[in-house]
Amino acid sequence: MEVLNKTSGVLTLFLLLLALFAIVSYMVYFYIPSVRGSYTISITAEKPLESVVLELPITEDNRPIYRIKEITCFVKSNGYLREIKPVITSTIDGNPKSILLPITGTGTFNIVGEYVLEEEKLIDYSRYPWTLIVDSKKYEVPVYVERDIMLQVVYIMKENSMILVPSLGILTVLCGGLSVARLFRGLFFQEKVPTAPKKKCTKWYYVCVNFFKIEQGSQTGKQLPKPYIDKLMKLLLNVNETWKKCCIKFIPCIDSKGNIVAKYVNPDRDITYATAGGKIIIGRYKIDFKIVRKLKLKDLFKDPNSTRLEVSESKVNAPYKEKLEATWKKDIEYKGVKYKAGEKIPNEIVNEIVKKGLEVVNKRLGESGLPENEKQRLLKRKKLFEYVLKIIKEENIVKRGEIPVIGALKGIEKLKDDHLSKCINVFIVKEYEDKVEKGEEGGCGEFPGRITIIEEKVIEENISNMLAHEFGHNLGLDHVPPNPQKPNLMETPVKGNNLTKKQCKKAFENCMKDKRKHFSEKTCHEGLKYLRKLELFREIEKLKKENKEIDKQVKKLRKSKEEVDKQIEDLKEQIKSEEKMLKKEKALLKKVSSTAKRAERYKDIIRTKKGRRKRYAEKSLDRMESMLEKDIERLKGKLEKAIKRNREKEAKELEKKIGEKETLLEAVRDPEATLKKYSEKVKALEEEIGKLKEKLKEYESKAPELKNKIDNKIKELRNKLNNNKNRINKLEKEIKELG
Ligand SMILES: [Zn+2]
Repeated sequence: MEVLNKTSGVLTLFLLLLALFAIVSYMVYFYIPSVRGSYTISITAEKPLESVVLELPITEDNRPIYRIKEITCFVKSNGYLREIKPVITSTIDGNPKSILLPITGTGTFNIVGEYVLEEEKLIDYSRYPWTLIVDSKKYEVPVYVERDIMLQVVYIMKENSMILVPSLGILTVLCGGLSVARLFRGLFFQEKVPTAPKKKCTKWYYVCVNFFKIEQGSQTGKQLPKPYIDKLMKLLLNVNETWKKCCIKFIPCIDSKGNIVAKYVNPDRDITYATAGGKIIIGRYKIDFKIVRKLKLKDLFKDPNSTRLEVSESKVNAPYKEKLEATWKKDIEYKGVKYKAGEKIPNEIVNEIVKKGLEVVNKRLGESGLPENEKQRLLKRKKLFEYVLKIIKEENIVKRGEIPVIGALKGIEKLKDDHLSKCINVFIVKEYEDKVEKGEEGGCGEFPGRITIIEEKVIEENISNMLAHEFGHNLGLDHVPPNPQKPNLMETPVKGNNLTKKQCKKAFENCMKDKRKHFSEKTCHEGLKYLRKLELFREIEKLKKENKEIDKQVKKLRKSKEEVDKQIEDLKEQIKSEEKMLKKEKALLKKVSSTAKRAERYKDIIRTKKGRRKRYAEKSLDRMESMLEKDIERLKGKLEKAIKRNREKEAKELEKKIGEKETLLEAVRDPEATLKKYSEKVKALEEEIGKLKEKLKEYESKAPELKNKIDNKIKELRNKLNNNKNRINKLEKEIKELG
């Protein structure tokens, strides 16, 4: 035991050193640290700003100093803080060199931002300030970089790599050699350690799910029939079985009446969804607008019965109407009427304002000597105004175009309650096909997002992997190449249900990020209870089934234990009867032998002697034969009578006697052959008895061990049975507690 501990101690030390060596080598040679920094700029512009560019310094030999991987920018002006997207306009070695900050207008701008840098070595950035170029005027921008303790340790390691890495390497090799040597000396024994219990989820992620079945003639919002919901829940349980490894659970949503959200949707429903939006500022009028499309759900379907959804790259060509919806951005007065911010603006008013705006723009465009960028800006405005006017004008015209199905499904009216935006929504259609993106059969999932479309057959045939796959898309997982050994859930077509750690991490992160998928007590808590109950029922059913099977096995084992004894008894019985037979055969052989010997003697005399002795021998032999023949004749007569009188026992006895006499007669007629025949018979019988006795011995020696084994197996099964029963009790208690 002492030796064993020492060896595993050395082995542990070796593994630790190996890990340390790997980490240090990685840090020194491969790890490129990244640091965070910030910058602040303040500019005042009297004239409208045209271009604000950050220039980053480079080394004399044209190498980047700042390897910026991410940069953010916030601008505060007129009391508003907004985020703008910096645009990289030139790069060096793949790193930004000039960054355009899209800021326009006049006034004071306070600009702050953060960036992430990659550093190969320690650099004193205070020596390399940035340059800000505002409309060709230059300013210096100081930069600040933070480095934490970890990073400082990394730099110390990098600086001392010449000593650190080789010495750690030598130490690791020495330690490895020592543990290998111990291993080979046979001192390293370890019993097979029972496999550790599978990692349990410390934190579960719950995702709420709604189900909607699109069916002609149905009533939108009406609950699906109970058996259908049962099927859905069964499917969901199987989906959860697959997603268990990622610690993600899909939970049915519950509506305000406490019903599971598994409802009908009538294809006659209207759909409205926004396609674009923005703001228009004309003089003092500030308008927010949205362009809203309106169509019928059934127009997305290929057939009049709304059963077949046929898409090309997730789009369907369908008729629709387009409408502008505008609201005031600020409290305002227009033609003597006061409006509040956010209030709807009638389209005639929008029309009037935009028309006036367009006139102004057109007039400005007519002026000569306009700077190029001003001209571009005006042209952009003109385009927007014309577009808005066109939408207003064509409000009642039915148009046709490509409708993104997933976007449209989000706009089904009457389903727009809270749940739709807080859950994953599964739409069930009879048939679904993407004419362009083949391979995915039976469904489609928004990537990433909250809409999944599946075919009816997925539910009818409980193809849980299909739904689990679409949920994968919803949680941000893309397709993966096929892996025949371990088919992944995200392969297409779907073959297996494996998920890698990386995929789990990605899906989990998607859940964490997308607040709209957040499980909420209000929408899902009851669903969690409901699903848990189903899970419990299912487990109980499984355990009960298992127990039935165990019962059967125990019965079988008991029977086989009885059979062990019975086999021995049977063998003993067989030996007894064979021994009895042997005794009889031996008695017969004795008679045959004496008769045969006498007959042989007479035959010898007949062959070798003459005269009186020969004649005497012939006579005696004849007499032997005829006496036996007579005996047989007499016995046969008796047998006939016994048969006639139905005396079975007597008849049997007589038959036996006749047989014996016939054997003796045979011995008189052919003494040598008959004697040989009957001795061989006895010998064979003796051999067989010997074999049977050996078999018995073997059985008797093995029986206790065998019975013991069976007893142990029965004990084991009984334990399992009891464990199962306890577990069932526990589960039933939990069901009761759930109410
Ligand atoms: Zn897919």
